Amino acid sequence: MDNYFIVGLAITALMVWLVSYRYYSKRHMHFVQSFLDSNNSITVVCDKKTIISINKAGLKFFGVNNLKKFQSSHASISDLFIEEDGCVDKYTYGKNWIETIEKSKRKSIKVKLFSVEDQMYYYFYIKISKMDYNNDYILSFNNITDIEQEKTQIKKLAEYDPLTKIYNRVKLNSLFPEIFYKANRYGQHFSIILLDIDHFKKINDTYGHNIGDKVLVELARLINMGLRQSDTFARWGGEEFIIVSEMSTRKETVALASRLRSQVENYSFDIIKNITCSFGVSEFKDGDTQTRLLERVDTALYEAKERGRNQVVSK
Ligand code: GH3
Ligand code: MG
Ligand code: MG
Repeated sequence: MDNYFIVGLAITALMVWLVSYRYYSKRHMHFVQSFLDSNNSITVVCDKKTIISINKAGLKFFGVNNLKKFQSSHASISDLFIEEDGCVDKYTYGKNWIETIEKSKRKSIKVKLFSVEDQMYYYFYIKISKMDYNNDYILSFNNITDIEQEKTQIKKLAEYDPLTKIYNRVKLNSLFPEIFYKANRYGQHFSIILLDIDHFKKINDTYGHNIGDKVLVELARLINMGLRQSDTFARWGGEEFIIVSEMSTRKETVALASRLRSQVENYSFDIIKNITCSFGVSEFKDGDTQTRLLERVDTALYEAKERGRNQVVSK
């Protein structure tokens, strides 16, 4: 009899514990979820790999109605990270990415995400915090899209000529080391063209600086249309432009320069109608430095001018 009483008491106690545990853990989950939902930026709770919870802002961003749907379509939140230079994606740190980052000094990473809600790409810093009592992680997404766009804009301003919208001298100078390295190390030869408008000063003097500017813009567009994707085109300064033609011999590049020379000569520019350009061409030679190659092509251009302009000279 006593034994039955004790067993009955134990079962009752267990049931009370179970019911209250469920009640309190449900209350606790409610509390956690309300807390997450009160945050306007995306917040996700994960264990080492899988998604445990996501707040309303997150569901909205990814265009999903509820957590279950989100969990069933994405094993890990990192599946949604889009690959891009400088951003972390699902391959960067592998499957244990959260743990790896949390244990590292970084604690925060940059990611790119696609918003289903407004069909746009966004950049975020994700801050990873480990919860003490159960080893889960809270991922807080901090929207940095505006800063990233500003950074891109500044980078563009530093690399492009504002007038002609092609690369400027700074950008071309930053590309040269790798081009020279590939040529010296792997024998990937290349050639360059230096071109300069003939008697451009006269155009400015006759028609004014604004019309001169328009000629530069039109010329850059015309030359650009005659180049391959692999050619690099930059405004070297004033009315001088450089074309770097990778994997091209001197002969091939002379042919390209001759074609461009003829295109410029036959093109009818707005207002001023006809202009001509002179071209220097040179091919990279083993052991060439940037200075030596540029000096050679400059000499070639000088000779083209000396010989009467509107021609191509190679060195
Ligand atoms: P050459 O055939 O020997 O090259 O004669 P040139 O008159 O073209 O050469 P010069 O170097 O004497 O003059 C270049 C002119 O280009 C002078 C300068 O005012 C003009 N120039 C340089 N940059 C710009 C620019 O951004 N816009 C305008 N409109 N003119 C520019
Ligand atoms: Mg000139
Ligand atoms: Mg000049």
